Amino acid sequence: MKIPFNKPSLTGKELFYIAEAVIENHLSGDGKFTEMCHQWFEETLPCNKALLTHSCTAALEMAAILCDIQPGDEVIMPSFTFVSTANAFVLRGAKIIFVDIRPDTLNIDENLIEAAITHKTKAIVPVHYAGVGCNMDKIMSIAKQYNLFVIEDAAQAMMSYYKGKALGTIGDLGTFSFHETKNYNCGEGGVLLINNESLAERAEIIREKGTNRSKFFRGEVDKYTWVDIGSSFLPSELNAAYLYAQLENAENINKNRKQSWKQYYEALKGIDGIDIAELSPDDSYYNGHIFHFKTKSPAERNDLIQFLRNKDITGLFHYIPLHSSPAGIKYGKVHGTMTVTDKVADTLLRLPMYYELTEQEIQAVVSAIFEFYGI
Ligand SMILES: *Cc1c(COP(=O)(O)O)cnc(C)c1O
Repeated sequence: MKIPFNKPSLTGKELFYIAEAVIENHLSGDGKFTEMCHQWFEETLPCNKALLTHSCTAALEMAAILCDIQPGDEVIMPSFTFVSTANAFVLRGAKIIFVDIRPDTLNIDENLIEAAITHKTKAIVPVHYAGVGCNMDKIMSIAKQYNLFVIEDAAQAMMSYYKGKALGTIGDLGTFSFHETKNYNCGEGGVLLINNESLAERAEIIREKGTNRSKFFRGEVDKYTWVDIGSSFLPSELNAAYLYAQLENAENINKNRKQSWKQYYEALKGIDGIDIAELSPDDSYYNGHIFHFKTKSPAERNDLIQFLRNKDITGLFHYIPLHSSPAGIKYGKVHGTMTVTDKVADTLLRLPMYYELTEQEIQAVVSAIFEFYGI
């Protein structure tokens, strides 16, 4: 049995909606399906305003423009994240300040943020790793005290909650990714959630090449023109049509992934040598995006990956920490130590996880791990 690391989710109506979009004969952005997706986010999460983008990377770039990041500004974030979290702000000239993560959630350690703040600090970017929330109460209270923007990189966190609030809807801005490796996908896609209402009007303009075209389409101005900086951040209707089918099935996808996550957890939690972080007993705190654990040593992790590969099972490590990457060294600075980040990067292993991963497939992965540990 060959078990890949990921299979993009497909729920049934994707092709049907794409056909409908083609028949509508209006494939550029902001058509019927984009509008239906926006409404879904605004009503279901809920959030103040949602704008689809062609990637989460694009949504983060919009966020950096919206927060008016200028050369020399500092932005605080974890180093254990995807490059786009940092790149979006580096593109505006910011210096990235990397702070260590917590050993349990692998999210930014909220107790280390305040010491990293200087008079140049403009924003904090919490990343909800594996779809499990950062300590948003603490982060929002620090941001309020120092008058900083909070941009949640919730690329992995759609349908997860923090104290009853959907991740991505707590900071000034939040972003999701619909890349095919994420829980809800349309190949390439993303969304910017605008929770701070004062940023909403400018967000529309930045997304439409710096023009007030959205207002024009709503009949609020009689011609549209160049009014601000911007770029083309919106996706085609084909992507929105595919995505809408996924949104209609969001509950199903979420339930299915969480079930798989729990099956792994129950089977592997007792094994000596495997360190699995416990989840909050509140079932809304995760979305089954990644099932990961830490091994005792880097060598053991690499041996296990190879052992699984020999059985046609793909387990993967994750980020090379940004602070130790060539661009991270150039554009960033470490505040404090990176002890937890470095250790996690060397020992973390992710198991196959996707929508409709079968019980038999999970059992095969678990059996292989038992065999590796001689159980
Ligand atoms: C996937 C991911 C991104 C980038 O998403 P794209 O849609 O591929 O641009 C950004 N940040 C994090 C944490 C991610 O996991």
